[in-house]
Formats: sequence, C-alpha cells, structure tokens
Amino acid sequence: MKTQYLTPQRQKQAVEILRRGGLVGIPTETVYGLGANGLDPEAVKAIFIAKGRPQDNPLILHIPSPDWLSRYCKDVPDAAYTLAERFWPGPLTMILKRGPMVPDVVTAGMDTVGMRCPKHTLCRKVIGALDLPVAAPSGNTSGRPSPTTAQAMLEDMDGRIEAILDGGPCAVGVESTIIDLTVTPPRLLRPGGVTLEELETVLERVEVDAAVRRLMAPGEKPKAPGMKYRHYAPKAPVTVVKGRPERTAEYIRERLGKTSGVICFDEYGDHFPGHAVETLGSAADQAAQARHIFEALRSFDHLDVTDIWAQSPADTGLGLAVTNRLNKAAGFHIIDLS
Ligand code: AMP
Ligand code: MG
Repeated sequence: MKTQYLTPQRQKQAVEILRRGGLVGIPTETVYGLGANGLDPEAVKAIFIAKGRPQDNPLILHIPSPDWLSRYCKDVPDAAYTLAERFWPGPLTMILKRGPMVPDVVTAGMDTVGMRCPKHTLCRKVIGALDLPVAAPSGNTSGRPSPTTAQAMLEDMDGRIEAILDGGPCAVGVESTIIDLTVTPPRLLRPGGVTLEELETVLERVEVDAAVRRLMAPGEKPKAPGMKYRHYAPKAPVTVVKGRPERTAEYIRERLGKTSGVICFDEYGDHFPGHAVETLGSAADQAAQARHIFEALRSFDHLDVTDIWAQSPADTGLGLAVTNRLNKAAGFHIIDLS
C-alpha cells in the first residue's frame, strides 16, 4: 500500500478514506492518531493489525462535542458534563459505561468506553465532516514512542495506512489524560495534558491508579489495559535519574560510556561533550518537556547509541505525564538521588 501524504488543504480526502473504512493518520493536539470509523468493526480491526496492537487493549472514540456522549454511552454522570465544560475540547479522555452502538472491537469487549473531544482544528474539521466518531490510538507501532509529527508517524506507518494528514507538530506532545468515571472516587488511569491538579479543582477526590507511578507486578491488572505493556521504548535501554538537576547532570556525566546518549534539560545541553544529547526544554518549562519527550526518545534510534541516561523532571503538574512516559520507556529503571 502506498501511503498518501495529505496537506491540510486535502482534508476532504482524509474524510473520504475514513468514510469508506480506510485508515488515516490524523493530527491531534496530543499526539498523531491512527484513525478509523469507530462504528465500523472491520475498519477498527485494521487499526490493531497496522499497529501490531494486542487485541485486549481498547481504543478511544473521538467526538466533536459533549452532546455525542449520550449516543455512545449509558448512565453518563453529571461529572462528565462538568469536566467536558471545563476541559473539552482538549486532552482529556473519560471512561464511561458503553452504549449498544459501540462495536466490541473498540472496547476490547469491556463494558466501558473511552471518550475524547479533541481540540486540534484540522482534526475537528475532519471528525465534523465525517459526522461519525473516530476510533484512534496513538499512531506508533505498538510499544514505540508516540509520534508528535507526521514524519515520525510515517517512520512507523508508511505503507501500512492509506494516508496521513499533516497538521504540524502536536501542541501538547503527550497523550490525553484518562479518568475513569465509572468508579467512586474517579480514578486517574493515565496522566496527560490535563493535570491531576486541574482535575482536582473540579472533582472532589481523584484516586491515582497504581500503574501510573510503578511497574505492575506479574499478574497484577491495571484498569487501563494499555498501561501494562512495555511502552514508549527506544531501542537502547534507558536509565532515569531523579533529583535536583545539578546533581543528576553530574551523576550522569560521571557514568557515561563512549556510546551513551543523554536526555537532559536545556541548561545542561553542553555538559556532555562528545555524546549524543537530546534536550527537553528548560528545567522549569514543563510544557516544553511534554512537547519534546517523544521526539527525544525516538531520535536515538537513528544513532549508534547503546544506552540512554535521562534527567527526570519533577512529577507535579504536567511533569506527572512526562515522568510516566519516561519511566515506562525505562521499564521503571530509576535511580533516585532526591
Ligand atoms: P492510545 O490511544 O494508544 O494512547 O491508547 C489508549 C489508552 O486508553 C490505552 O492505554 C487503553 O488501555 C486506554 N483505554 C481505552 N479504553 C479504555 C477503557 N474502556 N477502560 C480503560 N482504559 C481504556
Ligand atoms: Mg499509544
């Protein structure tokens, strides 16, 4: 299959492909998604094949506005509409009771479904014109870092999907926050573009799922099936070093081998001469760190790097999402100097 590269002007073609059951790479504000008509089981099955995604890992449905929730979900609680009012369109996915219209393959047979209303203008135009919910996981091959540009998605999906619509680099850079509203108190299953602190301004109490901060033990089941898989990993093994940036930079510098690579804050970009270095943004700029984390992880696959050392951001605010992705990429191999 030859994958067509579509500029924003050719968005109509993306809509046509989706309507007849094809797969299209679509930009969102979080990461690029691998989209299909979410009501067409055959089209959705093709997503799993293109990504090599395990069948038990459900997909998120993308809709243009909160009033579509009642079409695809049952017993929608008031909290869902309150959260939608505050954070939609935006990087928040809500887990709700699934309605009868949603195909089994979308939810991996579960009785709940993930719903999100994205903010990216071009993405909204496509979903609006299609007038159907779009099922879309991140556009990477299963296990790889998520793509935040059309070029990164093509690295994984060229020849496997009909087209990719280029909407420029993603503004957020990490996937959506996932909150489960079918349990009491609501539970944060995946940290993302909407922070825990922001959710707590709307919801009285939020429980954080154990899989967010640590590796699941064998046999232990996280509530978001996707959180159990090795994820976001570059080819070379990653070690994360936690603590004050001056200390972690020094610690890493002392341990680098000839072919080690480094992920660090901008302030330390010149601390590691002779090594492959990817900077995330300033130590104080969490939004920049979120935008750059996946490109940083991906970039080492093009270099002869045998091991990667990373300075860890703090895990507050957007930092909870960035550290979650980094720690997962490292298989939770973390050295704590704090
Ligand atoms: P991705 O779009 O690649 O970020 O993957 C979607 C994430 O949402 C995965 O981690 C899924 O396990 C999770 N997810 C989707 N639907 C549900 C659901 N109904 N319940 C719990 N987690 C879900
Ligand atoms: Mg993903």
